[in-house]
Amino acid sequence: MSQRDALARHLLAQTERAATLEAERTALHALGPENGGQGEAEKAAFIEGLLAAAKVTDVRRADSPDARVACGFRPNIVARVPGESSRTLWIFGHMDVVPAGDRAAWKSDPWRVRREGDLIYGRGVEDNQQAVTGMILLAEALAALGIRPRQGLGLVFMADEECGSRHGLAHVLDTLPEDFSPEDWYLVPDSGSSRGDAVEMAEKGQLWLKVTTKGKQCHASTPHKGANAFLAGAEAAVALHDGLAAAFPEHDGLYRPPVSTFAPTRHEANVDAVNILPGKDVFWLDCRLLPAHPAEAVLARAREIAAEVAERRGVGIEVEVEHTQPPSLTRPDLPAHAPLFPALADAVEAVYHVRPKPVGIGGATVAALLRARHLPAVVWSRILNTCHQPDERASLANICGDAAVFGRLLLAHAGAPAGETRAGEAHA
Ligand SMILES: [Zn+2]
Repeated sequence: MSQRDALARHLLAQTERAATLEAERTALHALGPENGGQGEAEKAAFIEGLLAAAKVTDVRRADSPDARVACGFRPNIVARVPGESSRTLWIFGHMDVVPAGDRAAWKSDPWRVRREGDLIYGRGVEDNQQAVTGMILLAEALAALGIRPRQGLGLVFMADEECGSRHGLAHVLDTLPEDFSPEDWYLVPDSGSSRGDAVEMAEKGQLWLKVTTKGKQCHASTPHKGANAFLAGAEAAVALHDGLAAAFPEHDGLYRPPVSTFAPTRHEANVDAVNILPGKDVFWLDCRLLPAHPAEAVLARAREIAAEVAERRGVGIEVEVEHTQPPSLTRPDLPAHAPLFPALADAVEAVYHVRPKPVGIGGATVAALLRARHLPAVVWSRILNTCHQPDERASLANICGDAAVFGRLLLAHAGAPAGETRAGEAHA
């Protein structure tokens, strides 16, 4: 049996170990201060212990000072195992999780892993502990089998992914820029499909708009004496949703969904009593834009639509940009932008018997931060897509299978840097 097959077979047999690792880390919570937590320090210390036990000696910290948590910092761990080639396979997992949400919606305690056959339930078991567990299983397997990998292995355990990554990957890339080469492979297992057949190589642009309507408050029994800002705001929400979709109708089959989206989302509380006609209304519009649709053009059209509603309803409507982020790749199907793709597709096919396709998504992952620094990143995992939900769950078979995919990539001969040909090597 080849070393590659031996490693994959070993990882696929780690079901019990995966269940233990998940249960131990779920109990450590790791909520950011925005979510009322104390950050990831306890979890990071636990992971460092696991890495030490797996004889990983090159372990560095890139902690980000954060006075909002008791320990004063948010931890980031960068662990490396040397390989035969100069290339490193980087795998990224975030340690923080989101709150449990409505406790009553859970069948059991979100912070105590419950197991039902292949499935484990608990907050964070999928997002992103599935990846982190796979990363640890891989390090443990290399030690157990005495394997020196072909690619160097780089494991990055990050803080603050759920609240913007400023204390997480952004801080790591700012602090240790020389560690990350454009020749390396970058895998972010933090999104995916249930069959493992989607490799995310592009993300839509983001434009978050705050829409403030100002009318005139009065008693609700005499609405003609005021200007109902809620009514006008509601009309603006519908007009923006429908009007922007009509103005920016292009399809791009790479993306799921294949169109730009314009979703009214958050709405600010207004008056306290039923008999008050509201004089102010505030809501937000979350736009996810295909690369064909520049944020400036969408903003300009949104202001035109808002002005039409304002005129019709006799109110003032202001449209402000709350957040904007460009699309993370404009021509994502170029293999040059993701040299890891062929090797990843081979590894996924070997483990899961499906051939993955490149896709684009509307969501944002930390891969955008890597791509912005010209580090070619892909996002892939085989997940149930229950993250942030009550009864979040993960499949132990997927955890071990994803780890086996990581292992095959680590020992892959394919996808050699320019100058070496892939043909002939791939099956050597
Ligand atoms: Zn995540």
